[in-house]
Amino acid sequence: MGLGRASAGMQRDELVRVLLVEDSPDHAELIFTKLRRSKRIRADIDHADRLEKGLRKLEQNKYDVVLLDFSLPDSFGIDTFRRTHQASPRTPIIVLTSLDDNELAVQAVRLGAQDYLVKREADTRLLVRSILYAIERATAEEALLESEERYALAVRGANDGLWDWNFENDRVFFSPRWKSMLGFSVDDVGDSPREWLDRIHPDDRPPFRRHLDAHLSGSTEQLEFEHRMRNLDGGYIWVLARGVAVRDENGKPYRMAGSQTDITARKRAEHQLQHDALHDSLTGLANRVLFVDRLACALADLQRQASPHFAVLFFDLDRFKNVNDSLGHSMGDKLLVGIARRLEHFLRPGDTVARLGGDEFAVLIHRVDDASGAIHVADRIQDVLSMNFSIDGHDVMVTASIGIAHSSTGYSSPEEILRDADIAMYRAKAEGKARYEIFDRDMHQSAVALLKLETELRRSVHRGDFLMHYQPIVSLGNIVRIVGFEGLVRWKHPERGIVAPANFIAIAEETGLIVPLGWWVLRESCRQTRRWQEQFPADPPLWISVNMSGKLFMKSNMVDELLGILEETGLEPRDLRLEVTENVVMDHADLAVRNLMELRALGIQLSIDDFGTGYSSLSYLQRFHYDQLKIDRSFISQLSSRGDSRAIVETILNLANSLGIGVVAEGIETADQVDHLRKMQCPHGQGFWFSRPLNVPAAEELMASSPTW
Ligand code: C2E
Ligand code: MG
Ligand code: MG
Repeated sequence: MGLGRASAGMQRDELVRVLLVEDSPDHAELIFTKLRRSKRIRADIDHADRLEKGLRKLEQNKYDVVLLDFSLPDSFGIDTFRRTHQASPRTPIIVLTSLDDNELAVQAVRLGAQDYLVKREADTRLLVRSILYAIERATAEEALLESEERYALAVRGANDGLWDWNFENDRVFFSPRWKSMLGFSVDDVGDSPREWLDRIHPDDRPPFRRHLDAHLSGSTEQLEFEHRMRNLDGGYIWVLARGVAVRDENGKPYRMAGSQTDITARKRAEHQLQHDALHDSLTGLANRVLFVDRLACALADLQRQASPHFAVLFFDLDRFKNVNDSLGHSMGDKLLVGIARRLEHFLRPGDTVARLGGDEFAVLIHRVDDASGAIHVADRIQDVLSMNFSIDGHDVMVTASIGIAHSSTGYSSPEEILRDADIAMYRAKAEGKARYEIFDRDMHQSAVALLKLETELRRSVHRGDFLMHYQPIVSLGNIVRIVGFEGLVRWKHPERGIVAPANFIAIAEETGLIVPLGWWVLRESCRQTRRWQEQFPADPPLWISVNMSGKLFMKSNMVDELLGILEETGLEPRDLRLEVTENVVMDHADLAVRNLMELRALGIQLSIDDFGTGYSSLSYLQRFHYDQLKIDRSFISQLSSRGDSRAIVETILNLANSLGIGVVAEGIETADQVDHLRKMQCPHGQGFWFSRPLNVPAAEELMASSPTW
């Protein structure tokens, strides 16, 4: 072997560098002559008549072959060969012998000489052939050695463990690296195949066996299989096993050898990638992709009648944005993580909780025959959330609005289920938050309608399809006169005509459209009021009340923007009253409170709208230095009939009076109510009894008529 390859590389008439070590000039001359006669090679012969000289030449030059005489004046016998071979182990040596030292020559071949020639018998042909073969064989050996070295290097570099399985005696050689890979020392592992097979992870054993058998039976070219191996600690590492069987003439394998590579790090990275693709990085919960996948499985099982009904609860946190805005995003993140941990804790194994993004979560629960099972879980979620979260010394409590979709509704895709749970969740929010709603078909209809409305509203805000109505606010003293107006926005709907705020303010809030709309209302109201102040001078001048969404207070530049409007319209800060509902105060996000305080410092008046309906208390009035409160119309409408309403209104008035806070009674509809309020010395009132909200010409007509009531 190898010979053919070497011959192919050797060309006719090739230059061959020969070192001839021969003390006899006659013999030397003979060889010179024979070689010169050759047509196959061109010999470049260097001659040394002593071993020492030959060795020196070997050291200095490179030869393709050495022709070596055994008996030299300075060396004799096998020693001559040994020293030459040692001096240049890779240069092929042909020993030249006389007939009588044949045995010596055989010994030399055994020790590594390529060939021996009996001097007198060797003619040109024999000599040249011997030289060529010697060179070729040496080249082949070298190549083999090189490839072996390369392989050894590769193995060492790849850090692979090796194994060699002899099927005849069923023993396996395991390399030290193979053993150390698993944490064992060389003596810890014997040579039985069980040392290997028994350590394969039980789940991987059958497929490993299949792969092995497939290779042994000849249906695969090599064994290649990734599996887990138990190590010394009892843990598992991932390995790649590769091997090739050696077969006899009949193709029957009698031996198999291969390698084992530690691929734990790669596997870990792969798993991590896979995990990341399916999980939310903040909370570690399932993400939308995984959730939808689980949902698809549940749906498929249900359709095959392989499992009972299931339900999806979709929820988001009420006012989570306030937490983020007031306590910072990192606290918001911690809250989300805390919530995730609690949710995981109370769910049954097999159920899935996912974070779908932001403060949105979804839960998939199995085996719920009807909605009542899902309601139970919804209640549990509220319980779990309402327990105080203590984050960096802050106590945070949250509620959620939960939408429930039950598989009995009949679904064909996971997206449909999520969509319906989402719709139900929006309904829960609209109905006042901190509650759940179960999806029904009507909801779908109204959700579609809502979406349409949203689109229309967006377009209208863009185009400015709004107008302002103004409702007079009057003094209730001896002479009733107009002291100010409340600006109330109306939507000029392209098809439906004038639309009242009850039908669109909530959506505007939800979509954030309230912000551009709010600024428009403010600018328009200020502009109109300034004009009226000039048209209808009074002392003090007319003031304007403008309803402000809490969202407008959540912008850091809101004070500047508001000042800009006042400057632009020429309205004095003291003639502007901003009406906010109690919830804006209650949520008292840092930024909102800071803005409120700053506005107040600038002389802008702050008014609490719908006072008495929210959760606020009079102590808040004091704390935040409001200038005015508007008693909600629900108390006013019961003034004549219910004694307790009267008592409440009286209490509010007394307290406001002692705190120096102004009061407007809202929704006055009857003379009787006016009488009651006058008796209680309520300073200001507003309501249909005096005037409905009016458009600009109607309001001007009213003012021009100097009305008294
Ligand atoms: P609000 O601020 O409490 O405004 C008073 C509402 O009560 C007005 O309804 C008004 O027409 C109505 N009202 C006045 N007097 C009477 C009465 O004697 N009886 C009855 N039953 N109702 C009376 P409107 O204009 O439909 O506004 C409803 C709510 O929409 C307002 O309540 C306010 O919260 C909100 N809103 C109106 N305009 C704006 C606005 O420009 N921006 C914001 N953010 N909200 C607005
Ligand atoms: Mg108002
Ligand atoms: Mg009100």
